[in-house]
Amino acid sequence: AKNLGPRSCVTFNEGMHAQAQKNLRTLNQLQKAIESKQFTVHYQPIVHSPTTTIAGAEALVRWNHPKHGLLLPGAFIPVAETSKLIVPIGEFVFRQACLDYPRLKELAGSPDNFTLNVNLAAAQLNDLRLSRKIVDILHETQREPQDIKLEVTETDTARDPQKAARTLHALREIGLKIALDDFGTGYSSLSRLIDLPLDTLKVDKCFVSELNNNAQKRRLVDLIISTGEQLGLNVIAEGVENKTQVTALFNMRCTFIQGFYYSRPVAVPQFGILNCTNVPP
Ligand code: C2E
Ligand code: CA
Ligand code: CA
Ligand code: CA
Repeated sequence: AKNLGPRSCVTFNEGMHAQAQKNLRTLNQLQKAIESKQFTVHYQPIVHSPTTTIAGAEALVRWNHPKHGLLLPGAFIPVAETSKLIVPIGEFVFRQACLDYPRLKELAGSPDNFTLNVNLAAAQLNDLRLSRKIVDILHETQREPQDIKLEVTETDTARDPQKAARTLHALREIGLKIALDDFGTGYSSLSRLIDLPLDTLKVDKCFVSELNNNAQKRRLVDLIISTGEQLGLNVIAEGVENKTQVTALFNMRCTFIQGFYYSRPVAVPQFGILNCTNVPP
């Protein structure tokens, strides 16, 4: 929902009414979906391009809807984020990633330091019980904290920067890794990069998609990668769809690649098969 400020005036029109009703229906169904375990997690490989090996994966939730089939997060995560429902959904994804970890690592060819990235929503960042819950789930699933990397967006950490920093420092203290997601798309300042205890920077797909036909965007990607490098962070480029982008990123010293070029997000049994195993960049 947009924050329209205290003095703005909106007319509640038909369209908005329909949308509000739809969101309410979705919230209702989401509540039931949590209870009846209709969510599932797909994994998209994060590939080290020079060796074409899988270094890790991002966990991405899907909703196995009884009527509409497999729904992508765009159809329900933004609605879930308007309520507290995102908290149990996020917890489910975290636990499922921990449970799937050994199998995925094996399917990836058992690389050292195999890491699963799990998205964290703003409401989870503000949940005081978050680190306790995470410690419990790690213990219950017998995972090491360094097996998991939590992805937070710039926008989510900007809502209450001090609180976000405190939460993330506590999680980092436990041993989890932290990635800043969608970097460069929000309004935050560069100082966020040093205020937060980051391991990794993710270059957003909106920059990657324009890499080869927009010189200014290419310079921006170069700048983001160098900045990450200077600060000692790992850099992952996301939304990489073709070989030309892989090569351009390689030349800018970004070698961790996530995108349809190598693999779409897949269910566990399909994990480990890359589209482009033939040639390094
Ligand atoms: P995100 O965190 O930026 O995740 C990356 C999205 O980019 C995924 O969309 C992925 O399928 C898509 N993608 C990957 N490679 C490519 C590519 O080469 N080209 C293009 N065009 N897209 C690519 P998906 O799975 O639909 O997820 C959308 C968003 O939903 C995620 O964006 C994330 O913000 C949110 N989300 C997904 N799972 C979770 C979750 O468990 N918790 C929370 N809080 N949010 C989640
Ligand atoms: Ca993400
Ligand atoms: Ca992202
Ligand atoms: Ca994104």
